[in-house]
Amino acid sequence: MPKPKPKSPRAATDHHRRRRIVAIAVGAAVAVGSVGIVAVSVGSSGTWDPQQLEQGATAEKPKMELEAQARAAAAVLAKRKEEIKAENAAIDRVIQQSGIISQAGPENKEVALTFDDGPSSYTGGILDTLKKYDARATFFTLGNQIGEFPLPMQRAVAEGHVVGNHTWDHQDLTRLGPKDIRTQMADHIDAVTGKGLPAPKLFRPPYGAVNDLVVAEARRAGMLTVMWSLDTNDYKLPAAEAMAAQVLAEIHPGAIVLAHDGGGDRTTTSAALPIILKGLTKAGYKMVTVPQLLLDNPPAAEQNTVQRTPVA
Ligand code: ZN
Repeated sequence: MPKPKPKSPRAATDHHRRRRIVAIAVGAAVAVGSVGIVAVSVGSSGTWDPQQLEQGATAEKPKMELEAQARAAAAVLAKRKEEIKAENAAIDRVIQQSGIISQAGPENKEVALTFDDGPSSYTGGILDTLKKYDARATFFTLGNQIGEFPLPMQRAVAEGHVVGNHTWDHQDLTRLGPKDIRTQMADHIDAVTGKGLPAPKLFRPPYGAVNDLVVAEARRAGMLTVMWSLDTNDYKLPAAEAMAAQVLAEIHPGAIVLAHDGGGDRTTTSAALPIILKGLTKAGYKMVTVPQLLLDNPPAAEQNTVQRTPVA
């Protein structure tokens, strides 16, 4: 059944309708073996409508600017070679433990902000804000967006952010067989490596929809499945102040925070981000990439136990 086209930016959030719950027990923030439950709501409404992704698309940036950012990205990757090696080793340790994570350990006051569904016309502004507050983030991009918005992706890497895999075009992978899951992941990897960037080591499933097969296929592709411990709920388009207040109230050391820089109207996210970063800085938090978070705050093995409730 084809999905009706969204009538407004708000309708573009249909995919977040709560249809079933995947409960992921990924340990409490305290490393004493207690297990907390993170309930992740997922939708299952099929494919992403590309029209909403094109919303707000800007004119193509000059080729020279793109080439300059690509050179800057390559230089940063070369300079950070040893750090990246250590970060990748930290990721591989968690892949071996469980293959899935929703938060890191609580050792340091570090958090990882993540942005899904880009790159888009909003990504540049978000990068500006991150730069202003000396914050690093992780961008779970869509392969079919990279061709249209290559500049913000190269710029993100040049500015020390990390690009993760959010599949080619945002399908619910729990509805696909192994071959199609592999294609969704591999096509994204090809889009990223085709731009001269390294293959992503991190994977976030569209709609947060995971099963053992999805986690196993990500692992087969060398990727850790990254969920989250704090949802900004930005897709609900709350007031920016309210969104920031919620995040600042729920933040905890080792948190992985879910937000979006694409897939619909992201003006709320863009407006809330400076308030969030200001608050986190004031509270003594450092905003790091997911690989850095895992390297600095290794999650205990018991934090990675995955349990699921039956699909309602
Ligand atoms: Zn998504």
